[in-house]
Amino acid sequence: MKLGAIEAGGTKFVCAVGDEHGEIFEKVVIPTEAPTITMPKVYEFFENKGIERMGVGSFGPIDLNEKGGTYGRIQKTPKIDWVDFPLAEDIAKNLNVPVVVDTDVNVAALSESRWGNATDVDACLYITVGTGIGAGAVVNGQTLKGLSHPEMGHIGVRRHEKDSFAGACPYHGDCLEGMAAGPALEARWGKAGVELTEDPLVWEVEAHYLAQALVNYIYILSPERIIMGGGVMQQAHLFDLIRKNVVDMLNGYVSSPRLTPENINEYIVAPGLTDEAGVKGALGLVI
Ligand code: ADP
Ligand code: ZN
Repeated sequence: MKLGAIEAGGTKFVCAVGDEHGEIFEKVVIPTEAPTITMPKVYEFFENKGIERMGVGSFGPIDLNEKGGTYGRIQKTPKIDWVDFPLAEDIAKNLNVPVVVDTDVNVAALSESRWGNATDVDACLYITVGTGIGAGAVVNGQTLKGLSHPEMGHIGVRRHEKDSFAGACPYHGDCLEGMAAGPALEARWGKAGVELTEDPLVWEVEAHYLAQALVNYIYILSPERIIMGGGVMQQAHLFDLIRKNVVDMLNGYVSSPRLTPENINEYIVAPGLTDEAGVKGALGLVI
C-alpha cells in the first residue's frame, strides 16, 4: 500500500511516499513560502503516485479537533501567510485522499516510539528546544491531544536566582520558551547559542529551566522516557546538567528505577532518528 507523508515545517516541507512498514521510497524537500507557492509544488510531487492516505506533521498552532469543522487548519502563527490556511482540507481536496494531521512534536514522539529511542516503552515524551520549545507525547501508540494539542513550551517556570532576563515570549514574557529557547539564549547573553560555549553560568541557567519543565512533565504525564532534540540540544553537555537537575528537583518523590542517578542517562536521551524523523512520524499517523 502506498502512503503519503508530509513534514510541514517553518523552513521546509519534506514530502515522501512510503508504505505501511515505514519504508520511504521517494522524498522531496520544498521550501516553505506562502501556501500559494508551496502547496502546488507539494501536489505536483504527489500527483499520480497512487497514495491512499496522507499523514501530516505540521508546525502549529493547528486545529486538531475532528468534530469542529476546521480540522487541520493553521491558527495564529507568526508565519502570516499561513494564518487560517486549511492545510488538511486543501490536501484532501487536491489529492483526493483522507488526511490525518498532528503537530510536528507529536509526530516526532510517534516516530521515536515506533522506530527510534523509545521502542521499548509504552509512554514517551519528545521535546524540542530550538527556535521555540514544544513537546509531544505518545501513550500506547497514540499521540496526546484533546481540546487542542498540548502547548508544553509555554508553561510557567521559577526564575534562576542569577537571571534577570525579562523573557522573550511575545505572549507570556518569561514562560519556558521565553526563558530557554534559542532566541532567549541569544537575547540574554548577546550571542547565538552555538557560540556560547565558555561560561558555565549560561548552561546552569539553561538546565535549570529545562529541568523544571521535565519535572513538571514527569509529574503530569508520567512518561517512561524523555527525548530531547532541537538546535539548543546540540550542546551535548546540557544533557548531564539537565539529568542532574531533574534528579535533584524530584528529590526522590517519584519512585522509579528509571529516575535514579544511575539510570537517568537512559531516561533523558537524545533522539534516535535524525533526518527522517519528521516525515517517518507523519507516515506513522496513517499506518
Ligand atoms: P527550529 O526550531 O527552527 O526547527 P532548530 O531546532 O535548529 O530549528 O533550532 C534553532 C535554534 O537553535 C536557534 O535559536 C539557534 O541559535 C539554536 N542553536 C542551533 N545550534 C545550536 C548549538 N550548537 N548550540 C546552541 N544553540 C544552537
Ligand atoms: Zn509563552
